[in-house]
Amino acid sequence: MKILILPGDGIGPEIVGQAVRVLEKFKAEGVPIELSHGLLGGAAHDAHGHPYPEVTQQQARAADAILLGCVGGPQYDTLPRAVRPEQGLLGIRKDLKLFANLRPAMLYPELAASSSLKPEVVAGLDIMIIRELTGYAKSEVERIAHVGFRTAMKRNKKLCSVDKANVLDTSILWREVVTEIGKQYPEVQLSHMYVDNAAMQLVRAPKQFDVIVTGNIFGDILSDEASMLAGSIGMLPSASLDASNKGLYEPIHGSAPDIAGQNKANPIATVLSLAMMMRYSFSREDLAQRIETGVRKVLASGARTGDIALPGEAVIGTKAMGDALVAAV
Ligand code: NAD
Repeated sequence: MKILILPGDGIGPEIVGQAVRVLEKFKAEGVPIELSHGLLGGAAHDAHGHPYPEVTQQQARAADAILLGCVGGPQYDTLPRAVRPEQGLLGIRKDLKLFANLRPAMLYPELAASSSLKPEVVAGLDIMIIRELTGYAKSEVERIAHVGFRTAMKRNKKLCSVDKANVLDTSILWREVVTEIGKQYPEVQLSHMYVDNAAMQLVRAPKQFDVIVTGNIFGDILSDEASMLAGSIGMLPSASLDASNKGLYEPIHGSAPDIAGQNKANPIATVLSLAMMMRYSFSREDLAQRIETGVRKVLASGARTGDIALPGEAVIGTKAMGDALVAAV
């Protein structure tokens, strides 16, 4: 498992540091992990004058999977657009031909009170939103549809395809293609929903969904909406995959400059990104489950960083949360 570690900016090094400790634990047990470290985003601009420099490109192409922290920060906001940190992220996705973005939205029962919805509506929520990252050609819709159906097969065999086929021509093609590909997956129950209705259903009755597949812009908006159901963005991982399951794994949140360097950030989203890496790039369901079960145990024990603590609850720092996670995994 050749894994490239890109801590990025802001809280990136702190949260990625905790995830690396989990990888080191696996490695010490004999899991064949080879780690390398590199720079992306503002950190890469500071060192090499570019957010996705040649040296990182070579490292990224050689890796089987990449763990990224997050990029960006106010000190980079005045840079020319072409060398801003986000261009590093767009650059690496394009370079590695990552076309499928997988974003789970789940709410651990222990955290049900931190969601903005009523606990009974969201407790135990577990949905997966799959978003196309590159375009609208027929072949691209086919490719992402397969990812959607295959993911549904590994879960509860329910796929909801979201479009706007009543208004948009691209969506008419989308719906035709998804329906056609669905014939190859007779076990999966396929439904279609207009995006405006999907946005409404996500806050009305989110547990009706299992896997959602949709295009780039709808997916961008719906996955952010879904992430708020889960209480804190400090809890949610993501994966961007190419056609052979090489992937870039990262928490969905940004670099949180307001708390960077203060040992306050929640490392759970980053550690859960590792679980996705073990599952999707390395087919190591056993290791993925050890991580996910470990997170659940740590939450059940009452450990809380500031973002997931309720008023009056004791708060621990990034490092102490890392200690608990490493022990529980
Ligand atoms: P953000 O996600 O960084 O922060 C939003 C709020 O959530 C902040 O109050 C922050 O403290 C909190 N937060 C985020 N992650 C947390 C964690 N792990 N633990 C505890 N609290 C956490 O979004 P923003 O403030 O809009 O953006 C800050 C910077 O991050 C900007 O430069 C932006 O461009 C960049 N950004 C990067 C990515 C990425 O790397 N994929 C994504 C979004 C934003």
